Amino acid sequence: MDYHCLREIEGKQAHDPLFIEKMNYNNKSSSSSSSRCVCVLGPVIVGAGPSGLAAAACLKEKGVPSTILERSNCIASLWQLKTYDRLRLHLPKQFCELPFMGFPSDFPTYPSKRQFVEYLEGYANKFGINPCFNETVDQAEFDSTLGFWRVKSTATRGGKKTTTEYICRWLIAATGENAEAVMPEIEGTAEFGGSIKHTSLYKNGEEYRGKKVLVVGCGNSGMEVCLDLCNQNAKPSLVVRDTVHVLPREMLGKSTFGLSMWLLKWLPIRLVDRLLLIVSWLLLGDTARFGLDRPCLGPLQLKNLSGKTPVLDVGTLAKIKCGDIKVCPAIKRLKRHTVEFVNGRTEKFDAIILATGYKSNVPYWLKEGDMFSKKDGLPRKSFPNGWRGENGLYAVGFTKRGLLGASMDAKRIADDIESCWKAEAKHV
Ligand SMILES: Cc1cc2nc3c(=O)[nH]c(=O)nc-3n(C[C@H](O)[C@H](O)[C@H](O)COP(=O)(O)OP(=O)(O)OC[C@H]3O[C@@H](n4cnc5c(N)ncnc54)[C@H](O)[C@@H]3O)c2cc1C
Repeated sequence: MDYHCLREIEGKQAHDPLFIEKMNYNNKSSSSSSSRCVCVLGPVIVGAGPSGLAAAACLKEKGVPSTILERSNCIASLWQLKTYDRLRLHLPKQFCELPFMGFPSDFPTYPSKRQFVEYLEGYANKFGINPCFNETVDQAEFDSTLGFWRVKSTATRGGKKTTTEYICRWLIAATGENAEAVMPEIEGTAEFGGSIKHTSLYKNGEEYRGKKVLVVGCGNSGMEVCLDLCNQNAKPSLVVRDTVHVLPREMLGKSTFGLSMWLLKWLPIRLVDRLLLIVSWLLLGDTARFGLDRPCLGPLQLKNLSGKTPVLDVGTLAKIKCGDIKVCPAIKRLKRHTVEFVNGRTEKFDAIILATGYKSNVPYWLKEGDMFSKKDGLPRKSFPNGWRGENGLYAVGFTKRGLLGASMDAKRIADDIESCWKAEAKHV
């Protein structure tokens, strides 16, 4: 492993008995486990997804080294390991760029997931970013006596468990809004007997060919998985519990997202929402007729208030209209290969796919009560103020504004740390 920017404790503070005692430097090792303590120059970044990479690159541009700890064995593990094969960026590439590097001009407007990963690998190479892989951060806590963060991680290699405590001045949480799959508790799950899996495990519809599949959740993933299942000759139904805004991915020859951003420069958000809904109605018709009721608030207002993303339709609605995908109400309970819905209707299914989303895991590992909400694991302060906490703690990629939001956070964080870094370097 490349610890290019790590340093075993040997600096000035390592000779300070208080420092050593406080860190409880413990080098006990046994055949199956060992522990060590590492002092880090610059910030520790937890997570090597697009947000962590963006933060590391922005810091590098300012001359500040950083150390990324990543629990999986690759960068962008959400994209590489937990997404379906047909996934493309939902937004046009110019809205998904990380700082200082655009997408190749020969990439399509909506790059495939393979192309996006290729872009991220190129990005990591360009900025010489080498995360420490297979290191899961279990705990991070600010030691107010020392004035440093203590970040504990566990790695298991070849059956041997290594626990490392990283000591750092700054800590950047980049574990994402999608760190853990949300699995709803459904009565009768054990009885069902067929396959039940979260979309994070769904790759393609091959194994569902000819089968009746119930997809639970009508966000972008649920809608797209239904379309994929149709294309594989499966028979999907879609559970729609809540209201949802479905918009065409493109309108008036422009991407809906790009058009919205442009209109927002000139018009109030309520008016932009009105326009989006009128054009959607002209292009898609009344979605409520097909069981997809719209929320009272417009799509952009709703996104701003609750973070709920509108669905950008890539062809699923046409399949719903022609009856290839059936829309169902919420599930009441499961029985043997049978689903009972809240309206009392029952139907047989071979499999269930849960497109029930993800959640942040920050409350599990960050021992801190002010910056992040314990409830949803997101910063308490709303955008654009959620990126900085106390004592050198930062958050990148928790704005509910995708990669664009992550890039904004990364630049702000690097600016903030740079000033402190330079002042401290001068002092040293
Ligand atoms: C299907 C799908 C499609 C999307 N499409 C778009 C799009 O088109 N445009 C857009 O802007 N956004 C999109 N998004 C939003 C998405 O959140 C971002 O694209 C992006 O992946 C967020 O990057 P991130 O680095 O913040 O989080 P992630 O990509 O989730 O990366 C977080 C990393 O942290 C690691 N990690 C988590 N916990 C720990 C721990 N305790 N210790 C160590 N490492 C840890 C994870 O393994 C992961 O590698 C999409 C999301 C999904 C699910």
